Amino acid sequence: MADRDGFIWYDGELVPWREAQTHVLTHTLHYGLGVFEGVRAYETANGTAIFRLQDHTRRLFNSAHILGLPIPWDQDTLNAAHCQVVRANHLTSAYIRPMIFYGSEGMGLRADNLQVHGIIAAWQWGSYLGEDNMKRGIRVRVSSFTRHHVNVTMCRAKANGNYMNSMLALQEALRDGYDEAVLLDAQGYVMEGSGENIFIIRDGVLYTPDLTSALDGVTRKTVMTLAQELDLTVIEKRITRDEVYIADEAFFTGTAAEVTPIREIDGRQIGMGSRGPITERLQQHFFDQVHGRSNNHFEWLTIV
Ligand code: PMP
Repeated sequence: MADRDGFIWYDGELVPWREAQTHVLTHTLHYGLGVFEGVRAYETANGTAIFRLQDHTRRLFNSAHILGLPIPWDQDTLNAAHCQVVRANHLTSAYIRPMIFYGSEGMGLRADNLQVHGIIAAWQWGSYLGEDNMKRGIRVRVSSFTRHHVNVTMCRAKANGNYMNSMLALQEALRDGYDEAVLLDAQGYVMEGSGENIFIIRDGVLYTPDLTSALDGVTRKTVMTLAQELDLTVIEKRITRDEVYIADEAFFTGTAAEVTPIREIDGRQIGMGSRGPITERLQQHFFDQVHGRSNNHFEWLTIV
Protein backbone atom coordinates (compact mmCIF):
# COMPACT_ATOMS: atom_id res chain seq x y z
CA MET A 1 0.00 0.00 0.00
CA ALA A 2 2.74 2.45 0.95
CA ASP A 3 4.67 2.17 -2.31
CA ARG A 4 2.56 3.70 -5.05
CA ASP A 5 2.09 6.89 -6.99
CA GLY A 6 -0.52 9.42 -5.99
CA PHE A 7 -1.34 11.85 -3.19
CA ILE A 8 -2.63 11.60 0.35
CA TRP A 9 -4.23 14.54 2.15
CA TYR A 10 -2.16 14.94 5.32
CA ASP A 11 -2.92 17.74 7.81
CA GLY A 12 -4.34 20.01 5.14
CA GLU A 13 -1.80 19.39 2.34
CA LEU A 14 -1.67 16.95 -0.55
CA VAL A 15 1.51 14.93 0.10
CA PRO A 16 3.08 12.48 -2.40
CA TRP A 17 1.87 8.96 -1.43
CA ARG A 18 5.30 7.57 -0.48
CA GLU A 19 6.08 10.60 1.69
CA ALA A 20 2.93 10.35 3.82
CA GLN A 21 4.86 9.02 6.83
CA THR A 22 4.46 9.15 10.59
CA HIS A 23 6.89 8.41 13.43
CA VAL A 24 7.08 4.98 15.16
CA LEU A 25 6.19 6.70 18.44
CA THR A 26 2.82 7.80 17.04
CA HIS A 27 0.54 7.62 20.07
CA THR A 28 -2.41 6.02 18.22
CA LEU A 29 -0.15 3.24 16.93
CA HIS A 30 0.59 2.29 20.55
CA TYR A 31 -2.81 2.63 22.21
CA GLY A 32 -5.37 2.57 19.38
CA LEU A 33 -7.15 5.79 20.27
CA GLY A 34 -8.01 7.23 16.90
CA VAL A 35 -11.04 7.34 14.63
CA PHE A 36 -11.56 6.58 10.98
CA GLU A 37 -14.12 6.06 8.24
CA GLY A 38 -14.53 3.90 5.19
CA VAL A 39 -16.21 5.76 2.34
CA ARG A 40 -16.80 4.86 -1.30
CA ALA A 41 -17.02 6.87 -4.49
CA TYR A 42 -18.73 5.44 -7.57
CA GLU A 43 -18.96 6.33 -11.23
CA THR A 44 -22.20 8.06 -12.18
CA ALA A 45 -23.47 9.64 -15.40
CA ASN A 46 -22.56 13.05 -13.91
CA GLY A 47 -19.03 12.06 -12.93
CA THR A 48 -17.54 10.36 -9.88
CA ALA A 49 -19.69 10.78 -6.78
CA ILE A 50 -18.94 10.06 -3.12
CA PHE A 51 -21.81 8.18 -1.52
CA ARG A 52 -23.31 9.72 1.64
CA LEU A 53 -20.14 11.71 2.35
CA GLN A 54 -21.82 14.05 4.86
CA ASP A 55 -23.15 11.08 6.85
CA HIS A 56 -19.71 9.48 7.02
CA THR A 57 -18.09 12.75 8.07
CA ARG A 58 -20.75 13.32 10.72
CA ARG A 59 -20.04 9.84 12.10
CA LEU A 60 -16.29 10.60 12.08
CA PHE A 61 -16.93 13.70 14.20
CA ASN A 62 -19.29 11.78 16.48
CA SER A 63 -16.67 9.06 16.92
CA ALA A 64 -14.08 11.70 17.85
CA HIS A 65 -16.52 13.41 20.22
CA ILE A 66 -17.17 10.10 21.99
CA LEU A 67 -13.43 9.56 22.47
CA GLY A 68 -12.73 13.16 23.47
CA LEU A 69 -10.49 13.65 20.43
CA PRO A 70 -10.65 17.25 19.15
CA ILE A 71 -10.63 17.43 15.34
CA PRO A 72 -8.83 20.62 14.23
CA TRP A 73 -10.81 20.93 10.96
CA ASP A 74 -14.50 21.46 10.36
CA GLN A 75 -16.75 19.03 8.51
CA ASP A 76 -16.91 21.14 5.32
CA THR A 77 -13.10 21.24 5.10
CA LEU A 78 -12.83 17.47 5.41
CA ASN A 79 -15.67 16.92 2.93
CA ALA A 80 -13.89 19.12 0.39
CA ALA A 81 -10.62 17.28 1.09
CA HIS A 82 -12.26 13.92 0.26
CA CYS A 83 -13.22 15.28 -3.18
CA GLN A 84 -9.76 16.77 -3.66
CA VAL A 85 -8.09 13.41 -2.92
CA VAL A 86 -10.28 11.49 -5.38
CA ARG A 87 -9.55 14.08 -8.08
CA ALA A 88 -5.81 14.27 -7.34
CA ASN A 89 -5.50 10.49 -7.72
CA HIS A 90 -7.54 10.50 -10.98
CA LEU A 91 -9.93 7.91 -9.56
CA THR A 92 -13.27 7.24 -11.25
CA SER A 93 -14.32 5.01 -8.36
CA ALA A 94 -12.61 4.72 -4.99
CA TYR A 95 -12.48 3.50 -1.45
CA ILE A 96 -11.64 6.50 0.74
CA ARG A 97 -10.03 6.23 4.17
CA PRO A 98 -9.99 9.29 6.42
CA MET A 99 -8.36 8.85 9.83
CA ILE A 100 -7.79 11.20 12.77
CA PHE A 101 -5.02 10.24 15.16
CA TYR A 102 -2.68 11.48 17.87
CA GLY A 103 0.93 12.28 16.98
CA SER A 104 4.26 11.37 18.54
CA GLU A 105 4.73 14.46 20.71
CA GLY A 106 4.39 12.43 23.90
CA MET A 107 4.19 8.85 25.13
CA GLY A 108 2.30 7.13 27.91
CA LEU A 109 -1.41 7.24 28.60
CA ARG A 110 -1.05 10.55 30.42
CA ALA A 111 0.54 12.44 27.54
CA ASP A 112 -1.24 15.78 27.34
CA ASN A 113 0.80 17.52 24.65
CA LEU A 114 -0.40 15.47 21.70
CA GLN A 115 -1.23 17.03 18.37
CA VAL A 116 -4.19 15.71 16.42
CA HIS A 117 -3.42 14.72 12.83
CA GLY A 118 -5.61 13.82 9.91
CA ILE A 119 -5.13 11.86 6.72
CA ILE A 120 -7.39 11.03 3.80
CA ALA A 121 -6.24 8.37 1.34
CA ALA A 122 -8.14 6.96 -1.64
CA TRP A 123 -7.55 4.05 -3.98
CA GLN A 124 -9.36 1.76 -6.38
CA TRP A 125 -10.96 -1.17 -4.52
CA GLY A 126 -13.34 -3.75 -5.97
CA SER A 127 -15.81 -5.98 -4.12
CA TYR A 128 -14.57 -6.49 -0.56
CA LEU A 129 -15.94 -10.04 -0.31
CA GLY A 130 -15.41 -11.02 -3.95
CA GLU A 131 -17.37 -10.34 -7.14
CA ASP A 132 -18.73 -13.92 -7.39
CA ASN A 133 -19.86 -13.85 -3.77
CA MET A 134 -22.09 -10.84 -4.51
CA LYS A 135 -24.22 -13.22 -6.59
CA ARG A 136 -23.59 -16.55 -4.90
CA GLY A 137 -23.50 -15.44 -1.27
CA ILE A 138 -20.86 -16.10 1.39
CA ARG A 139 -20.32 -18.72 4.09
CA VAL A 140 -20.00 -17.44 7.64
CA ARG A 141 -19.52 -18.78 11.15
CA VAL A 142 -20.53 -17.47 14.52
CA SER A 143 -17.34 -16.26 16.14
CA SER A 144 -15.98 -17.62 19.40
CA PHE A 145 -15.10 -13.97 20.12
CA THR A 146 -17.85 -11.79 21.61
CA ARG A 147 -18.57 -8.33 20.24
CA HIS A 148 -17.54 -5.57 22.64
CA HIS A 149 -19.75 -4.95 25.62
CA VAL A 150 -21.21 -1.43 25.37
CA ASN A 151 -19.35 -0.29 28.45
CA VAL A 152 -16.03 -1.95 27.63
CA THR A 153 -15.49 0.17 24.58
CA MET A 154 -17.61 2.75 22.85
CA CYS A 155 -19.32 0.90 20.02
CA ARG A 156 -20.92 4.01 18.42
CA ALA A 157 -17.40 5.21 17.68
CA LYS A 158 -15.60 3.87 14.64
CA ALA A 159 -12.42 3.77 16.66
CA ASN A 160 -9.13 2.20 15.60
CA GLY A 161 -8.77 0.13 18.77
CA ASN A 162 -12.23 -1.44 18.38
CA TYR A 163 -10.98 -3.33 15.35
CA MET A 164 -8.78 -5.72 17.29
CA ASN A 165 -12.02 -7.50 18.19
CA SER A 166 -13.03 -7.58 14.50
CA MET A 167 -9.61 -8.87 13.45
CA LEU A 168 -9.69 -11.73 15.99
CA ALA A 169 -13.11 -12.81 14.74
CA LEU A 170 -12.17 -12.50 11.05
CA GLN A 171 -8.84 -14.33 11.42
CA GLU A 172 -10.62 -17.22 13.13
CA ALA A 173 -13.32 -17.39 10.43
CA LEU A 174 -10.79 -17.29 7.56
CA ARG A 175 -8.52 -19.85 9.23
CA ASP A 176 -11.50 -22.21 9.46
CA GLY A 177 -12.35 -21.76 5.78
CA TYR A 178 -15.27 -19.30 6.09
CA ASP A 179 -15.59 -15.99 4.30
CA GLU A 180 -16.59 -13.86 7.29
CA ALA A 181 -17.53 -13.98 10.99
CA VAL A 182 -20.78 -13.13 12.78
CA LEU A 183 -20.22 -11.78 16.27
CA LEU A 184 -22.71 -12.24 19.10
CA ASP A 185 -23.08 -9.58 21.77
CA ALA A 186 -22.23 -10.06 25.43
CA GLN A 187 -25.75 -11.49 26.03
CA GLY A 188 -25.42 -13.97 23.16
CA TYR A 189 -27.60 -12.18 20.60
CA VAL A 190 -26.52 -11.72 16.99
CA MET A 191 -24.83 -8.34 16.55
CA GLU A 192 -22.81 -7.84 13.33
CA GLY A 193 -19.98 -9.03 11.11
CA SER A 194 -16.35 -8.03 11.59
CA GLY A 195 -16.97 -5.02 9.34
CA GLU A 196 -20.64 -5.29 8.38
CA ASN A 197 -24.15 -4.99 9.78
CA ILE A 198 -26.42 -7.99 9.34
CA PHE A 199 -30.01 -8.40 8.13
CA ILE A 200 -32.19 -11.50 7.98
CA ILE A 201 -35.45 -11.95 6.09
CA ARG A 202 -38.29 -14.20 7.18
CA ASP A 203 -41.74 -14.35 5.55
CA GLY A 204 -40.93 -11.20 3.57
CA VAL A 205 -40.02 -9.10 6.64
CA LEU A 206 -36.52 -7.74 7.25
CA TYR A 207 -34.99 -7.93 10.70
CA THR A 208 -31.76 -6.36 11.88
CA PRO A 209 -30.27 -6.14 15.38
CA ASP A 210 -31.05 -2.90 17.18
CA LEU A 211 -27.96 -0.81 17.67
CA THR A 212 -26.37 -1.59 20.96
CA SER A 213 -22.85 -2.83 20.33
CA ALA A 214 -23.08 -2.72 16.52
CA LEU A 215 -21.76 0.19 14.50
CA ASP A 216 -24.47 2.57 13.23
CA GLY A 217 -23.81 1.65 9.62
CA VAL A 218 -24.44 4.10 6.81
CA THR A 219 -25.23 1.21 4.45
CA ARG A 220 -27.60 -0.25 7.05
CA LYS A 221 -29.50 3.04 7.11
CA THR A 222 -29.48 3.18 3.30
CA VAL A 223 -30.88 -0.35 2.97
CA MET A 224 -33.55 0.37 5.60
CA THR A 225 -34.69 3.41 3.60
CA LEU A 226 -34.65 1.50 0.30
CA ALA A 227 -36.55 -1.43 1.82
CA GLN A 228 -39.25 0.88 3.13
CA GLU A 229 -39.52 2.50 -0.30
CA LEU A 230 -40.13 -1.01 -1.70
CA ASP A 231 -42.95 -1.42 0.85
CA LEU A 232 -40.97 -3.94 2.85
CA THR A 233 -41.24 -3.93 6.63
CA VAL A 234 -37.99 -3.56 8.57
CA ILE A 235 -37.92 -4.44 12.26
CA GLU A 236 -34.99 -3.69 14.57
CA LYS A 237 -34.88 -6.20 17.39
CA ARG A 238 -32.75 -8.68 19.26
CA ILE A 239 -31.99 -11.63 17.00
CA THR A 240 -30.92 -15.06 18.20
CA ARG A 241 -28.41 -17.28 16.47
CA ASP A 242 -31.05 -19.89 15.64
CA GLU A 243 -33.24 -17.23 13.99
CA VAL A 244 -30.47 -16.81 11.44
CA TYR A 245 -30.34 -20.61 10.96
CA ILE A 246 -34.02 -20.63 9.93
CA ALA A 247 -34.08 -17.32 8.01
CA ASP A 248 -35.27 -17.37 4.38
CA GLU A 249 -32.48 -14.96 3.42
CA ALA A 250 -29.64 -13.11 5.11
CA PHE A 251 -27.17 -10.46 4.01
CA PHE A 252 -24.45 -8.17 5.25
CA THR A 253 -24.25 -4.42 4.62
CA GLY A 254 -21.20 -2.19 4.75
CA THR A 255 -19.39 0.44 2.75
CA ALA A 256 -16.72 -2.09 1.80
CA ALA A 257 -19.07 -5.12 1.69
CA GLU A 258 -21.93 -3.15 0.03
CA VAL A 259 -24.86 -5.64 0.07
CA THR A 260 -23.42 -9.16 0.32
CA PRO A 261 -25.74 -12.19 0.53
CA ILE A 262 -25.05 -14.86 3.16
CA ARG A 263 -25.82 -18.38 1.96
CA GLU A 264 -24.62 -20.46 4.88
CA ILE A 265 -23.98 -20.06 8.62
CA ASP A 266 -22.33 -22.60 10.91
CA GLY A 267 -22.66 -25.31 8.24
CA ARG A 268 -26.40 -24.70 7.85
CA GLN A 269 -27.81 -23.55 4.53
CA ILE A 270 -29.84 -20.34 4.69
CA GLY A 271 -33.02 -20.50 2.57
CA MET A 272 -32.18 -21.95 -0.85
CA GLY A 273 -28.46 -21.64 -0.14
CA SER A 274 -27.99 -18.83 -2.64
CA ARG A 275 -28.78 -15.12 -2.97
CA GLY A 276 -32.46 -14.70 -2.08
CA PRO A 277 -34.93 -12.72 -4.25
CA ILE A 278 -35.45 -9.87 -1.76
CA THR A 279 -31.71 -9.56 -1.18
CA GLU A 280 -31.22 -9.37 -4.95
CA ARG A 281 -33.82 -6.58 -5.29
CA LEU A 282 -32.24 -4.60 -2.45
CA GLN A 283 -28.79 -5.13 -3.92
CA GLN A 284 -30.00 -3.83 -7.30
CA HIS A 285 -31.63 -0.78 -5.69
CA PHE A 286 -28.49 -0.12 -3.69
CA PHE A 287 -26.29 -0.18 -6.79
CA ASP A 288 -28.80 1.98 -8.69
CA GLN A 289 -28.52 4.58 -5.93
CA VAL A 290 -24.74 4.64 -5.61
CA HIS A 291 -24.34 4.91 -9.38
CA GLY A 292 -27.01 7.63 -9.60
CA ARG A 293 -29.24 5.49 -11.86
CA SER A 294 -32.24 6.17 -9.61
CA ASN A 295 -33.33 9.75 -9.31
CA ASN A 296 -34.89 9.70 -5.86
CA HIS A 297 -31.79 10.13 -3.65
CA PHE A 298 -29.44 12.52 -5.40
CA GLU A 299 -28.87 14.09 -1.97
CA TRP A 300 -26.74 11.03 -1.15
CA LEU A 301 -24.26 11.81 -3.95
CA THR A 302 -21.44 14.36 -3.81
CA ILE A 303 -19.91 14.83 -7.23
CA VAL A 304 -16.15 15.25 -6.78
N1 PMP B 1 -19.95 -2.74 11.55
C1 PMP B 1 -18.61 -2.61 11.60
C2 PMP B 1 -17.88 -3.18 12.76
C3 PMP B 1 -17.94 -1.95 10.57
O1 PMP B 1 -16.61 -1.82 10.60
C4 PMP B 1 -18.66 -1.44 9.47
C5 PMP B 1 -17.92 -0.77 8.34
N2 PMP B 1 -17.75 0.60 8.58
C6 PMP B 1 -20.05 -1.60 9.46
C7 PMP B 1 -20.67 -2.26 10.52
C8 PMP B 1 -20.88 -1.06 8.34
O2 PMP B 1 -20.91 0.34 8.39
P1 PMP B 1 -21.03 1.23 7.06
O3 PMP B 1 -22.23 0.72 6.34
O4 PMP B 1 -21.21 2.60 7.56
O5 PMP B 1 -19.79 1.04 6.30
